[in-house]
Amino acid sequence: MNLLADQWIPVRPFDVGGAEKISLQELLCGEKKWELCLPRDDMELAALQLLICISQALFTPKGTAELRSRIVKPITVSEYDVAVQAVTDWFFLDHPKHPFMQVRGVPAKDSTPMDKLLAGLTGATNSCFVNQAGLAGGLCGGCAAIVLFNQASCAPSFGGGFKAGLRGSSPITTLVQGDHLRRTVWLNILSGDELVQTFSWHGDTAMQKPTWIEPIKAGEAVSSQRIGFIRGLLWQPDHIELLSPVAAKSCSCCGSRTDTAYTAFNKAKFSYTVVGTWPHPHSPRIMSSKKGETEEKFAAFTTSAPAWTQLSRFVVQQQIDATNTVGQQPAAVILQARKILGAQSRKLHLLIGGYRNNQASVLDRRHEVFTLNHGWDSNTNVIHYLVALGRGYRDALYKALYVFVNGIKDIKGAGVKLNQAAESQFYRRTEPTIEDTLARVDFTEPEQELARMRKSLKSITVDIFQESVRPYLNDPELIRTLAVARRTLYKHLNNLEPQKDKGEDNGKTETP
Ligand SMILES: [Zn+2]
Repeated sequence: MNLLADQWIPVRPFDVGGAEKISLQELLCGEKKWELCLPRDDMELAALQLLICISQALFTPKGTAELRSRIVKPITVSEYDVAVQAVTDWFFLDHPKHPFMQVRGVPAKDSTPMDKLLAGLTGATNSCFVNQAGLAGGLCGGCAAIVLFNQASCAPSFGGGFKAGLRGSSPITTLVQGDHLRRTVWLNILSGDELVQTFSWHGDTAMQKPTWIEPIKAGEAVSSQRIGFIRGLLWQPDHIELLSPVAAKSCSCCGSRTDTAYTAFNKAKFSYTVVGTWPHPHSPRIMSSKKGETEEKFAAFTTSAPAWTQLSRFVVQQQIDATNTVGQQPAAVILQARKILGAQSRKLHLLIGGYRNNQASVLDRRHEVFTLNHGWDSNTNVIHYLVALGRGYRDALYKALYVFVNGIKDIKGAGVKLNQAAESQFYRRTEPTIEDTLARVDFTEPEQELARMRKSLKSITVDIFQESVRPYLNDPELIRTLAVARRTLYKHLNNLEPQKDKGEDNGKTETP
């Protein structure tokens, strides 16, 4: 199967119709509107990223004007053919010498079943992962390519000495969502001008080949600033080889008809080091200053807190300076969207996905879409403020319950753990308010929506506080505790109200 020529992309028509598979050429050159169609949202995100990476590698538009025209209309078949001609050989999943994202002749005592390539399918004990039975039984070529890419680029490593991708084990991916698949792909492709901004070494490395064509040398120390964009986007950190497919009727993942299916692969450890952080254009990074050195890493979901708590990181740039010890750098594709969408005052539909892991095991996965009303691009401080406000209500609840649970000085505490359950209730019940505010707020005049948001978050916070303490109200010893905890709650809630005499201005001039 060839990813540039064959029908492997699992889609369904945007309006009506069932699942089918199309080729990359049909996607990029056709007028028809599609959306991805796979049984898991992380697999759809992986498929989307793979499409973006291949298209970025082969069809980088020169400048913003060319990118804008591609977002609007399909490319021609001849443009497609010219761009893929020289590299078609790189994209055979079953090439006898250099198969896509694999190495031939991987030494392995035992083969590994395909389910190990579907992140979180095995070893996941929590309910966040709902997988249909037999999902990885036998995969068609398209699904095999998607899971290979996902394992190499988005998921934790296999553990035990196997390497994770260039973004580390569980990077957050942030992309711009368009109104159909082709548009989404182009919205996340950097123009040549932006590529140079992101990769200052672009000129020297643009012609580099992917790792399965020009393998990483064993023991090599690779400087991240010597990795070109094609090589980096399609980086395969491990030695993996799919075993020959077996006769089959249908794919266990996408459900499509297939004559053969991949059921197992070989993997082997392989040692090398990448020095520094490669600026992957699909992920936000966090910088911190330690002893005068700047450390950089990719943003990740490290707690069960929902994605909005990190939203400012995804869209607001912040340098390390005299007032900030921590910096943040949104994904290059999001920064580019500020320019290309901002001019047309469009809303941003921000697609956020990623895994939360504990070493090799995946604890849960996230997949969310936030809509930011137009005007967001020139008022990112409002986003920063809005997220801080949301976290402020969470903290008010948390601090009040902490007092109720632990007591204070000579006042007895309830001694039961209430905080965690209350926090997840808070996240669950406030999410619609936060999402709604982001989608509706007038970013130049945010006061009215922010007041509405405050009112809603305050009422949810008070409700959860009362529901949490209610079962303990029969204990006369806790009456004083409750009074103190309630006072704590209202003190913190009052601090979140706009205080005009202090000159607060709802984030208009707040430094992030
Ligand atoms: Zn399939």
